[in-house]
Amino acid sequence: MKLCRFGEPGREKPGIVAGHERLDVSSAVADFNEEFFGSGGISWLSEWLASGANNPPRIGPSSRVAPPLARPSKIICVGLNYREHAVETGSLLPPEPMIFGKATTAMCGAFDPIILPRGGEKTDWEVELAVVIGRRASCISEADALEHVAGYCIMNDISERAFQKERGGQFIKGKSCDTFAPFGPFLLTADEMPSTDGLSLMLSVNGSTMQNGSTSDMVFGIPFLISYISRFMTLLPGDVVSTGTPSGVGAGLRPPRFLAAGDVVEYSISGLGSCRNEVMAHSQVAR
Ligand code: ZN
Repeated sequence: MKLCRFGEPGREKPGIVAGHERLDVSSAVADFNEEFFGSGGISWLSEWLASGANNPPRIGPSSRVAPPLARPSKIICVGLNYREHAVETGSLLPPEPMIFGKATTAMCGAFDPIILPRGGEKTDWEVELAVVIGRRASCISEADALEHVAGYCIMNDISERAFQKERGGQFIKGKSCDTFAPFGPFLLTADEMPSTDGLSLMLSVNGSTMQNGSTSDMVFGIPFLISYISRFMTLLPGDVVSTGTPSGVGAGLRPPRFLAAGDVVEYSISGLGSCRNEVMAHSQVAR
């Protein structure tokens, strides 16, 4: 199944993507949240749809594409997890996964604008494969890790490099501004993703390709990452592990190239659809 959500921020409802249509399943489930993922909601919804007795209404094409999961308890990102990206940042490959947090309030939809933060000057892109947890994971083994995955979607780990690297403290400061985590456009359930090896990740800015990588280039694989993170914290159903970005970020270019108002960022991962965000200055948005 392809899970999606629709509607305005704060009033999103759950849906599914069926061919070229989106169907409203809010009569069957409250939301794609911790309770849904943690209580077998994916199999339940799949059976509800397959029974044929229910006829979920179509979602209007103009309805906003919201993030495909409700705001989770945490978003954990993995840094320097693609070999060439480590090289472009001038970093050595980390001996253990380099993990950091991203505020969950940064979430937005796959076609929402990215808003440059007040005082930001080096806002950058990072297309990533995001893993959504389906079962509580605490100190789990690598062999068991994939049983704890609900599904996969695209996340753009938008990063304000000046906040991240020049203002002291931890990465979370440059990773967490509002709109810095576009998700979507849908969440593909794990049963429909036989392998996450060899998925291609692409990102362009104003039509010019910037990132063109493959998940085969990951330093630490997904089962290892989930097992590893679960030794330091409990991952809850609905939590997100974002698995790092391939090379081609703006900070790695010579000279560096960062986002400006009016830029259009488009990105995709094979099997997971594509996203498109226009970049806006904070002064263009009433907040
Ligand atoms: Zn990242």
